[in-house]
Amino acid sequence: MVKAMEVYEGKAKKMIPLDEKKLIMEFKDDATAFNGEKKAQFKGKGWLNAQISAKLFKLLEEEGVKTHFIGVAGENRLIVERLEMYPLEVVVRNVVAGSLKKRLPFKEGTELPEPIVELYYKDDAMGDPMINHHHSRALGIREDELREMERIALRVNEILREYFEKRGIILVDFKLEFGKNERGEIVLADEISPDTCRFWDAETRESLDKDVFRFDRGDLISAYEELYRRLS
Ligand code: ADP
Ligand code: UDP
Repeated sequence: MVKAMEVYEGKAKKMIPLDEKKLIMEFKDDATAFNGEKKAQFKGKGWLNAQISAKLFKLLEEEGVKTHFIGVAGENRLIVERLEMYPLEVVVRNVVAGSLKKRLPFKEGTELPEPIVELYYKDDAMGDPMINHHHSRALGIREDELREMERIALRVNEILREYFEKRGIILVDFKLEFGKNERGEIVLADEISPDTCRFWDAETRESLDKDVFRFDRGDLISAYEELYRRLS
């Protein structure tokens, strides 16, 4: 949780208060996977994720999605609106991969008949458990807030899916986080990067995301650079 005027250092980013209303979001070169069990550093990852996130937040803003993005403040830093975060991870899936195939009888790589939205309670010590609307309401998140986050998540999926498809990339799945601003509006926050999305090359089905690190599938920086190149 990012509090008061203190610097918050997370696994992938540092959140540095700029003033009451703004934060600097500094992307680190650190990579973690499997709830922090696997760790490494990749020189240049912070820069790539900051630039990719900035590009995607700008695209979403142009398409009418409210995001926390204010501007780029250097190589691996973005300026963002400070929000009161929901302790949720909202995952959208288009194609079967990752934890979905472990939990249900789905085969990796199968396109889903319609996107699936999942909610996880953001808590490292508990391993980010999956929750439903009943749990969320019991945790104090109102039904209308949940519906609004899911609506935005599906809209983000439509926009990004089409954008990546044009660039020869399949948007397999991704994770979003949301916060509330001073006006009580729900705003898309955190990052949208190859650390938090699965991207597959449409032809070769090679990963251009953190699965390269998770499953030792080659050079992470080359994969992230290739993704960035296709957005440029
Ligand atoms: P983690 O906390 O999971 O290790 P990070 O290293 O990515 O993750 O740290 C970023 C932290 O900042 C997360 O806790 C995230 O929820 C929070 N955050 C993201 N965007 C905002 C925002 N606009 N205002 C306040 N907090 C934010
Ligand atoms: N994800 C994330 N942070 C998390 C958990 C998942 O960014 O704490 C992203 C992940 O990169 C993928 C999607 O959410 O794009 C779905 O992840 P999944 O549930 O399959 O979990 P995984 O097996 O990747 O941990």
